[in-house]
This record gives sequence, C-alpha cells and structure tokens, in this order.
Amino acid sequence: MYVVGIDVGGTKTSVCVSDHTGKICTQQRMVSGGDASLAGYEARLSTLLHAVIKESGVDRADISAAGVSAPGPLSVKDGLLLAPPNNPGWFDVPIVAMVRNMLDLPVYMNNDANAGVLAEQRFGAYHDCQNIIYLTFSTGMGGGIIAAGQLVQGITDMGGEIGHQILDAAGPPCPCGMRGCFEVYCGGRNVELRLRDMLAADPSINTLLRQRCDGDLERLDHAMFAAAARDGDPFAVAQWDAFIERLAQGIGNLIMILNPEVILLGTIALHEGDLVLKPLREKLPRYTWSWPLQACRIETTTLGKRLGDLAAVAVALSAQPVPSSL
Ligand SMILES: [Zn+2]
Repeated sequence: MYVVGIDVGGTKTSVCVSDHTGKICTQQRMVSGGDASLAGYEARLSTLLHAVIKESGVDRADISAAGVSAPGPLSVKDGLLLAPPNNPGWFDVPIVAMVRNMLDLPVYMNNDANAGVLAEQRFGAYHDCQNIIYLTFSTGMGGGIIAAGQLVQGITDMGGEIGHQILDAAGPPCPCGMRGCFEVYCGGRNVELRLRDMLAADPSINTLLRQRCDGDLERLDHAMFAAAARDGDPFAVAQWDAFIERLAQGIGNLIMILNPEVILLGTIALHEGDLVLKPLREKLPRYTWSWPLQACRIETTTLGKRLGDLAAVAVALSAQPVPSSL
C-alpha cells in the first residue's frame, strides 16, 4: 500500500509518495507562497502531485490515500487551512477538497505538530511508546500529544496547543491575543525579536551579538544567539539561561499533566543539542515531581529532516487500517 504525503511548510510545499513503512519512493518541492490567487497555487500543486506520482513508478491503483500536514490554524473537520501564514490574505483554503479533486483519493489532514507526533509514533525510535509529546519551537511553538496510544485532537482540533499555555499572565503580549504564552518566551521568532528590542533599547549592552550581525540587528537570529551563548558571551549566556528556564517551566507543566514516557524536541533543540538538553534537564526538577520526571526521556526528534514528509505520510496512514505486516 502506498500513500501521497503533502507537507505544506512555511516556505516550501513538499510532496512525496511513500509505502506504509515510511520508505519514501520519490519527493519534490515547490515554493509555498507567492501566488496572488488560490487558483495559481492549486495549479502548481496539481502539476507537482501528478509529476511526483509519475516519477515514483507506483501504480495509481496501489495508492490508497493522501495526507496533508500544514501549519495551523486549520479545521480538520472542514478540511480548511484557516489562515495560511505563507499567503497573507488567504482565508479558509479548502485544501482537502482541492487535493481530493486532483487525485480522486481519500484525503486526510492535520496540523504539522500533530502530524509530527503521529510520524514519531509510527516511524520513530520510540514507536513502542504509548505516551509521547512532540514539541517544535522554530517560528512559533507547536505540540503534538499521544496519550494512551491516541492522538489528543480535542473537540475543536486545538488539543496539543502547547505554545499557548500561560507561563505568566502579566508577561509580554502574544500575537494570539493573550499574555505570557509559552511561545512568547521560547518560540524562535519571539526570542529573536526580544533580543533585538533589548539591544536596540540599550546601546550600553556589550555583546558579541552586535558584531556577529555587523551592527544590523535585523540579522540577529537564533543560531547567532546560540553560538554566542556557546562562546561564553555574558549577555547571551544570561539570556540563554532565561530561555531554558522558561522552557523547563513549560515542559515541567506538560510532565505533571500528562506523565509522558518521552518528550521529543525538534528544531532549535535538534540544531543545538546539549546546549538545550543539558541545562533543561538540570532545571526541570524545579517544575515537576521527581517520579514523572525520572520516567520521562527528553530527547531530540528521531526522524530529523525526514520528519516533514513522514508527518504527512503518517496523517494519510493514521486513517488507514494498520497493515498486519507492520
Ligand atoms: Zn499565545
């Protein structure tokens, strides 16, 4: 059995054909945004889908479904991307109906974080675990939760919106309308903006970050921040410590509520490894009891760069009967 995976990322849309074990036969990408009209995107996606299926050599009759993994907000029930971030001004894009019309297949959808944890559960190193949390914090923060073997979808598809738990109700405003969300403190984009604001507001702060971005604070990014912290720059070290403290607070709450076997961190943790994991493990005892903490492994995502495609594949397969050979 084969499925088509469609990973609608922030900048690129990736399309693949995979078998039920996650072996990807072929994969191609196109730019996600830039179309003035929905018809333009639809035409490009249709062309790419048919090209990828042809290139895979898989018989159309052997393809049973397609899965879409996309950034939220979205409605799984209605098959809509509510406000795709790569095409500002677009609303309620009927992506499921579009793909169904293109391929004449059953089409399933979920947000990229839920899709990510489905992929880890099905294809990752912890596939034998029944309680898994996947947490990504690149631009915003997304979370996917498997509890007692089942994806936590929630009644309005917002189960696992880990990034908008409140860590401090008097904290900085979040674009979602609340204050002090986890994402405000630990989402990569927000961290960059806060550092830029701090350095712009106080020219007396002496830090390697000013040289690394050649005095242009717009160029300051999370990778520069991590590198300066690694190099021992006192400002970057102090800010990194504050970042990890909030990460521990948010993850500690998750451990107390869900008692998971494993928490898998993507993006920044995947890039920076022990610069995140080591201090995080040291701080966590302040935010959770020792029993659930000792039972919880905290690691980086095990699927690495394959996660995006496999997330879409897992969405397609999650609505299918599991083959007896798996
Ligand atoms: Zn928020």
